[in-house]
Amino acid sequence: MLAGCAPATEIEPVVTAQQKAALDSISAANLKGDLSFIASDVLQGRYTPSPGLEVAAEFIASQFRAARLKPAGDHDYFQTAPMIDRYMPKPASGMTVEGAGKKFTIAADSLVIFDTSQAVKIDRAPVLVFPTRDLDTLKKTDIAGKAIVVEQPDFDGMSPGQAMATYRKMRSFDIYVGASKAAIEIVVTKRLAPASPRLLSAEAAGARKVPVVQAANAELQRCLKHPDEGSASTVSTDVPGPENRAVTVKNVIGILPGSDPKLKDTYVLLTAHYDHIGTTETAGRMAMAPKSPNPDDHIYNGANDDGSGTVSVIEIARALAKLNQHPKRTLVFMTFFGEERGELGSRYYGEHPIFPISKTVADVNLEQVGRTDEVTNGKVTRETNTASLTGFDYSDVPKTLAEAGKAVGIRVYTDPEASDAYFTRSDNDALAEQGIPAHTLTVAFDYPDYHALGDEWQKVDYENMARVDRMVALALIRLANNSRPPQWNAQNPKTAPFREAQRKWAGQ
Ligand SMILES: [Zn+2]
Repeated sequence: MLAGCAPATEIEPVVTAQQKAALDSISAANLKGDLSFIASDVLQGRYTPSPGLEVAAEFIASQFRAARLKPAGDHDYFQTAPMIDRYMPKPASGMTVEGAGKKFTIAADSLVIFDTSQAVKIDRAPVLVFPTRDLDTLKKTDIAGKAIVVEQPDFDGMSPGQAMATYRKMRSFDIYVGASKAAIEIVVTKRLAPASPRLLSAEAAGARKVPVVQAANAELQRCLKHPDEGSASTVSTDVPGPENRAVTVKNVIGILPGSDPKLKDTYVLLTAHYDHIGTTETAGRMAMAPKSPNPDDHIYNGANDDGSGTVSVIEIARALAKLNQHPKRTLVFMTFFGEERGELGSRYYGEHPIFPISKTVADVNLEQVGRTDEVTNGKVTRETNTASLTGFDYSDVPKTLAEAGKAVGIRVYTDPEASDAYFTRSDNDALAEQGIPAHTLTVAFDYPDYHALGDEWQKVDYENMARVDRMVALALIRLANNSRPPQWNAQNPKTAPFREAQRKWAGQ
């Protein structure tokens, strides 16, 4: 680049002595010490909500306190979130389908109530069959009072990309139906999946939601093949109300106030989720069966997912707090509850932001930064001194990480399939939906003990994690010191919803 072409603030290629000292203070031993606690059996796999998760939150807060971060929650370091843990009812009766001169009943044990906000009695609701979950067709159809019949897609055998596209289509269709005046959504499936409890914000739990019922039935399966015939029928059934348990859970937030009089009111986030899937009992509630059952172990320790991200947030905060001169923008260190139950902590933050969204310039979210044994196409490879980010070309945040990587000896690479497919699979997604350029940084997208009982702290490569964390720390300094905030890549159409969300907040 020609000298004088770029403003001086745009690149900061030099690591100053003070910065180097801070980066060097990131220690593999500290990471190991913290992770051996966070992922210990006493925390029982940090299910949301659970006493183990509470202990983890207190531990993170205690470390933020020791590092002299400023508390930024509503209760000291805690952003408290009132939530409802909702257990779905068992069907009280079968489901009767009648029309075109025939009538059949689906037995209660061939039905699973997947979602409902209240008890509903459905009396001969006209059936509308949607052979594919096409949102445009749905929007053009009058669905008030109707029973919407769709098919459960078969995800087995889909590539991650296909599965993600199918899931997204399904999600937007179901969200639209859920908020409509339809009577019920019936998902026809070959295999009934057990209903999992749902964790919702208190506001969301109060809203009326169209019940979703899974049905395993050959006649209904036939209706999907003959939508017109199916649509001449009606459905009757009773859906009982759910059981609601009120709980309070916490995001943990500490800040390092910025040093620049103007830029200090703008924010760079470093985030990770501190929850995991708990024990075989709680994972069973979430319809997860142990991948490699072990009669001597029932705790999912979640050391890499995402104990590694959690202790990295703590250690990077400690290191940057040592800088005599803080970075110009305010750095926000935040750990989320409930990622495993649907990115709930990040969603809660996105909907109840403590710092204005329009002034939040970037989020670097850490997931699975400890293990270097990566599974790709069924083979295990070693990934040392490398890291990748999701949504690699969605914004120029990854470029800053890649440049910092060069300075500390970490190669940042793009994984063409995982980059987009995993963008929605962690907390960065909830913040991106608000418009914040947000990416997840990971060392291994998939590893041998992913969501398995063997995800334990002894298997983590701490020296490698410390090097990756030094890169992240340096990138945060540069994101915070650069007066030009990172931009979404307008050339990539996939960023359109995020850019639109960002525009909505502008000026606030
Ligand atoms: Zn995770």
